[in-house]
Amino acid sequence: DRAGLRGPLRESVLEPFLAGVLADDRQQTSDAFVRLLVRSFALGRPGVPAAGIGALPAQLADTARRAGVGIRLGQRVVSTRRRARGWHVGIDGQDAVTARSVIVATGLDPALDVPLPPSRGLRTWWFAADRAPSDDAALRVDGRRRGPIVNTAVMTNTAPTYAPRGQHLVQATCVLPSDAPEDVVRRQLSEMWDADTRPWRLLRRDDIVGALPAQDPPLRLRRPVRLGDGRYVAGDHRDTASIQGALVSGQRAAEAVLADLAR
Ligand SMILES: Cc1cc2nc3c(=O)[nH]c(=O)nc-3n(C[C@H](O)[C@H](O)[C@H](O)COP(=O)(O)OP(=O)(O)OC[C@H]3O[C@@H](n4cnc5c(N)ncnc54)[C@H](O)[C@@H]3O)c2cc1C
Repeated sequence: DRAGLRGPLRESVLEPFLAGVLADDRQQTSDAFVRLLVRSFALGRPGVPAAGIGALPAQLADTARRAGVGIRLGQRVVSTRRRARGWHVGIDGQDAVTARSVIVATGLDPALDVPLPPSRGLRTWWFAADRAPSDDAALRVDGRRRGPIVNTAVMTNTAPTYAPRGQHLVQATCVLPSDAPEDVVRRQLSEMWDADTRPWRLLRRDDIVGALPAQDPPLRLRRPVRLGDGRYVAGDHRDTASIQGALVSGQRAAEAVLADLAR
């Protein structure tokens, strides 16, 4: 509104694009956050890792392991309890761990009694196609909002490694809650791509209820990483709803731990 953006560019392009990026199709998000995000898109170059998004935590873990950090995977923390010195961390089906400091970085999972903002959700449908409906890598939005899909893309046009040779991977994203069945999604996809989607094979559907923390106004950047009870917290909900927000909060939490241990 402040930039005076009206008409088809706003209604048919920017609004559906932002609905998918913010997981918010009601335009409740802080305009300060939207401007921050649009700036990142304008300055950056969108992409995905060739090996999948798991390459990002794998890279962080490699660096940490080389520095002597022990990492255990596939273990669910169920409790954190204060002990005379430090903390007792309960793990589902495993022996508990004791620690001098605890940083809770479990995303928007409410299990560990950390204050969390409301979250927004996304549903992604994944299809395999023998023929790509387009050879461009652009994210398509539906300016006419003919159904639940806010954006779709042929992922293999960006990352050919995402499918076996000769196959194509198409994603279609909807904002949760959504109860649209597969046939409605396929119909909208065929309109958006101007292609027959009947031969496409549904591979899977990912419903991520806590995809992003809500960034409602007033926007509060740099929320405290010290929980009042002696634990620390890191995650995108402490900074901005993004990977870089999660990384920045992790750095802030680590600095807080080091400062407190040095006292
Ligand atoms: C479909 C989708 C697309 C996105 N695209 C982008 C994008 O293009 N760019 C961008 O910047 N951001 C994007 N995001 C947002 C980004 O993924 C998040 O902002 C980021 O992952 C948040 O990181 P985090 O460390 O706070 O939490 P998470 O990534 O959620 O990490 C929390 C971790 O804790 C683990 N965990 C949870 N509970 C427990 C427990 N009890 N015990 C042990 N472990 C536990 C989880 O398994 C998870 O591995 C996207 C999100 C989604 C869902």
